[in-house]
Amino acid sequence: TKTAKILDGKTLAEKIQKELTAQIIEVQAKIGRPPGLAVLMVGDNPASAAYVRNKEKSCAKVGIASFGKHFPQETSQKELEDVIAALNQDEQVDGILVQLPLPEHLDAVQLLHQIEPDKDADGLHPVNLGRLVRGEKGLRSCTPAGVMRLLAEYEISLRGKQAVVVGRSILVGKPMALMLLEADATVTIAHSRSQDLKSITQNADILVAAAGLPGLITADMVKPGAVVVDVGINRVTDANGKSRLVGDINFASIADVAEYITPVPGGIGPMTVALLLQNTVTSYLQTAKESGAL
Ligand code: NDP
Repeated sequence: TKTAKILDGKTLAEKIQKELTAQIIEVQAKIGRPPGLAVLMVGDNPASAAYVRNKEKSCAKVGIASFGKHFPQETSQKELEDVIAALNQDEQVDGILVQLPLPEHLDAVQLLHQIEPDKDADGLHPVNLGRLVRGEKGLRSCTPAGVMRLLAEYEISLRGKQAVVVGRSILVGKPMALMLLEADATVTIAHSRSQDLKSITQNADILVAAAGLPGLITADMVKPGAVVVDVGINRVTDANGKSRLVGDINFASIADVAEYITPVPGGIGPMTVALLLQNTVTSYLQTAKESGAL
């Protein structure tokens, strides 16, 4: 048995953050302000709070100003729509995102629709998803864009390869499949209604697991020499009663079959945050160019 090479998202994310820091330092004086990102959070879901803190910490590290707002659980749809409308107009703000999940009385999709597409740092607005479908420039969804960036860093070629994406969510699976297609892979999308998942994943030169089920992908489902990307983030309690994060793949056994593999944590999670920062800086530079400041 051989052991797969690790696709190290943590290290690459740090490298991207350093590049963004340098880029911001270079242009900030000319533009007259730093880039700005507004993360909106409603209620006090502890996992969401941790994600938001992490995003704000990463912003601070690279020199992006945070315009985050934390709203009480009972905040109304109208209040949030008004906040988004104000942020759309705010010249200090280049990126806006709504941290999910939202309390049940709120309509997340409707809020997403209110965000100015060119400030849609998560790349999930229908206009940006439409641009992805059409192969036009636009803000790309952070998680799948992070996967693509990680594969590119390790010079993994996708052209003509069989790629299988397990999961079809609008957040991960669908945009992931479109990006792999854009890179000339032959793409199959599997989901909860797919029959005989193993016979599908066994064909994959590139396998992306994004189902949110710990241990869904086992070594017998992986083609020897495949590139296996684990997007899943699942909190499980181990035999000792300790809580820890695992992905969707059986890491230890697949590491003996695959050529490349991503760890959880330290794989796609940090890449997602890096691409969020990058989207914010992209909007910042774009706005500056349009206004003639650059
Ligand atoms: P969703 O729950 O929205 O989607 C899960 C997808 O997996 C669905 O399309 C579902 O199919 C499919 N699925 C469920 N069960 C099976 C099965 N047995 N076989 C095949 N497909 C199945 O999750 P998300 O896409 O939002 O997230 C997926 C995972 O990625 C989660 O663990 C999440 O925490 C993680 N994540 C990680 C991020 C990161 O930064 N690394 C960012 C975002 C998410 P169907 O459509 O038929 O229901």
